[in-house]
Parts: sequence; structure tokens; C-alpha cells
Amino acid sequence: MGNDVVIVGAGVAGLVCAQRLAEAGVGVQVLEARDRVGGRTEHGRLPDGQAIELGGQWIGPGQTRMYALLDELGLTTFPTYDHGEHVLDLGQDRRTYSGDTPPLGGFALADLASSVSRLHRQAQRIDPAAPWTTKHAQHLDARTFETWIARHPTRGARTFWRLLTRAIFATEPANLSLLHVLTYVRQAGSVETLIDTTGGAQQDRVVGGTARIAERLAEGLDPAVRLGAPVRAIHTGDRGVDVELADGDRVRGRRVVVALPPTLAGRIAYHPALPADRDLLTQRVPMGAVIKLHLVYDRPWWREDGLSGQALSDGPVTQVVFDNSPPDGSCGVLLAFIEGADALHWGPRPAEERHAAVAARLAEMIGPAAAHPVAVVERDWTTEPYSRGCYGGHLPPGVWTQLGPALRRPVGRLHWAGTEHATAWTGYLEGAVRSGEETAADVLDALRDG
Ligand code: FAD
Repeated sequence: MGNDVVIVGAGVAGLVCAQRLAEAGVGVQVLEARDRVGGRTEHGRLPDGQAIELGGQWIGPGQTRMYALLDELGLTTFPTYDHGEHVLDLGQDRRTYSGDTPPLGGFALADLASSVSRLHRQAQRIDPAAPWTTKHAQHLDARTFETWIARHPTRGARTFWRLLTRAIFATEPANLSLLHVLTYVRQAGSVETLIDTTGGAQQDRVVGGTARIAERLAEGLDPAVRLGAPVRAIHTGDRGVDVELADGDRVRGRRVVVALPPTLAGRIAYHPALPADRDLLTQRVPMGAVIKLHLVYDRPWWREDGLSGQALSDGPVTQVVFDNSPPDGSCGVLLAFIEGADALHWGPRPAEERHAAVAARLAEMIGPAAAHPVAVVERDWTTEPYSRGCYGGHLPPGVWTQLGPALRRPVGRLHWAGTEHATAWTGYLEGAVRSGEETAADVLDALRDG
């Protein structure tokens, strides 16, 4: 079978798109720059050889396409460890609490609760597939999320929102359009869904790691997935597409799906050039910045102290911590994120210095034993040439309203996929699956038309 469709990128979106097209009898070829599939999902290894997730890992209620895909691929989930007390460490005041309500104090809590419901109400007015059509979209898109946060009367609520922003977007609130944050909340369902563990987006993990999803999809597509094949240029003509690889090789097809975050799509040369709006869009959806570290211990000792291993802090280095131990608790793993401006600061530092700084912070937040991990397993996503930051792309002010319609619109024989293009759960694995499926359906329609 020849290539009807060439797919650039073997992340979850590109592979799901390829699988759906192949199921429909379409000939596909997937070109992947890295020497592995999975993109922003990747296996790391704990000292005993067990897999640990270096990239995307959690799924939760509402992410229906992900659960369905796992079923299809014969993969199972287990719950994120969510028992015991969480730690909130603000202004060097460490408190523990259980449940979903942080011990912020009466005024700050009321301030936070009222802004959560205000944000939720505003988000319900957004069309998740076309945020630029929202009433007052220009106004909402002219404001940063930091401007919105700064209007809160209490310091506790302001601090908490800034922490949540970094935890959800891996960037600073000043980089985000308010309209983008509202769109994100609308696409996920609620603020609570985004931040909760049990009942929220952090509820479950995949047995064996999420990187298994792409591995299984690629096995099903074999030999249509080509690794070590970075695409440098795409030529489109009346009769088909001609995709040029870095080594000069060319792959031809009738249509092409570029399954990359917009900013990486912008690093490919297009002949003829993209329309101005799509080209400008690729210049204006920057990635977040995150380093994900796993500090490994011989056992999850914090559980014995009645702690969940989950912590939020406004202190230096790391502000979000989770228990990421294997399901059988055979060793203890504390997951610490370094996000946003902190990731840019700590990324270039020597690994030993970064690990020691994180271990020292965890000792303050979780307990003194955290100071002595037996190993650290980390991935700095800002240095990955074929991700250039993570968790995903975000839209700064003005982008949704000026360039939003160009995000998903095909350009002749060129189609777009990837979590940044999703109309639900953008930024998440769920968004990648949905985008892959939706683009496959669009491509099938287009192939029928010629
Ligand atoms: P990608 O995975 O980025 O796939 C794009 C592919 O294209 C990559 O394989 C890349 O190598 C390839 N490529 C790039 N340029 C070229 C080129 N020129 N030629 C050929 N190939 C190219 N999501 C969740 O749902 N839950 C989480 O808990 C979660 N946590 C995260 C934590 C971290 C640290 C990170 C990094 C991400 C996290 N995410 C999470 C996000 C999730 O991983 C992504 O949304 C999802 O994996 C994106 O899939 P994708 O297929 O759209 O893009």
C-alpha cells in the first residue's frame, strides 16, 4: 500500500491519528524525529528497573477517550496515592491538612472560593472550540491571568492562584491570557477537576507507565513508523505532498498531518509558505518550562508519618510535590516539579546542585528523611530538542482573538493535530487522543473529496 497520508510526529496524537486512518484502510507513514515513540510521554527507570513516568502521567474523570484507548490497548490503571495529610507551606508556615480545602485562613479561603466560582461562571460562557467568539472575548484576551490574580484582596488567595497556575501550565501567570485560562477551565470542566487528585485530573496512573500507550500503538502500526526521521520541509502541490527529512530523503503522500505543538510546527519550512495567520500562530504559542524529578527512597516512609506525600509551597526551587511510588510501594518515590521561571533558573545548574536543593526543600516540606534519596531520576523538558519545553503550549494575550481560527483550520493538503489543537482537555493526554481522532476524521473526509 502506498502512503495516502504522511504523519509528522509519533506522540500520542500522531499515533492515534495514524491508527484511526489505518483502521479505515488508509495507507500511513509516521515520521518521528526521536529514536523512540511517545513524545512527551517517556519511560524513566527506577534503580530496581521499574518504569517511572518522565513526562505526562495522570488521567482522571472526564478523560473518556483516554480510558477507552487504554482498554483498547489492554492497559490498566491504578490510583495515585492519596491518603493521609497534605502539606501546605506558605511564607515558611508549614501546615498539614486533609481533604481538598487548604488551611489558608478565613478571609483568604473566602476570597479564593469566590474567585473559583467567578472563574467557573465565566468559563461556562466560552465556546471550547472557538473561544474568540465569546462575548467580550477581546477584553478577556487583552488581560493577563496575573492582572486577574492581582485584584484579589488577600495575599493567601493571590499566592495560591500563582501556585496553581505554575502547577497547571508550567509558566508564570503574567504569560497567560485570561481568555486562555478560561478556555482551559471550560475544556476540562472546572477548576476543581484540574487540581484535584481523587475525582480530578491527577486521579489515576497507567500500570507500566503512560509511554506504553505510544509503544502499543506503534506496534500495531509496524512497519509504518519510522524513527530518527526529523522532518525539515513540507512541499505541497495540486496532486500531493512531498515531505523532506533532515537527511534529504523524501516521503510522498496525498495529505500530511503535522502532529506537533504549534511552535515546533513552525520550525518546519513550508513550500509554498503558510498563510500569514497560521505562520504567526506558530510564532506565538510558547511552551511552558518544567523539570520533573523523582527522588527515590527505600520505602515510602512519609506514609508511616500519616502524610500523603502531596505538598504545595511558595518556597524556592520546587512548589508541587506528589507521592509517585510504584503501585506496590516496593520503594518510595517523591515527585517534585520545578516549573516556570524556576525551571529556567535551575535547568542550567549542575545536576548535583539541583538535586541537593530539591532534596533539602523536600526535607523541610515532607520530613528530614527526604534529604537522603538513594537515587534521583529526572527529565528537563526545556532541553529536549523535539519538545523545547512542556507540559504544553499556552496562549499569551491577543493570540486567541487574533489568530485562534488558524489553529485547527487545514491549509490545503496540510492538517494539524496534537494536544494544543484539542477542543477538550487541551494540554493533556486526553487532548492528544481527541485531537488525533478528530484530525483522522477530517482527513478521511478530505480523502473522499480528492
Ligand atoms: P508530543 O508528545 O509532543 O508529540 C510530538 C512528536 O513529534 C514527538 O514525538 C516529537 O519527537 C515529534 N517531533 C517534533 N518535531 C518533529 C519533526 N520536525 N519531525 C518529526 N517528528 C517531530 N498530560 C496529562 O494528561 N497528564 C499529566 O499528568 C501530564 N503531565 C505532564 C508532565 C510533564 C513533565 C510533561 C512533559 C507533560 C505532561 N502532560 C500531561 C502533557 C502530555 O504529556 C501531552 O499533552 C501529550 O503527551 C502530548 O502529545 P502530542 O502527541 O500532542 O505531542
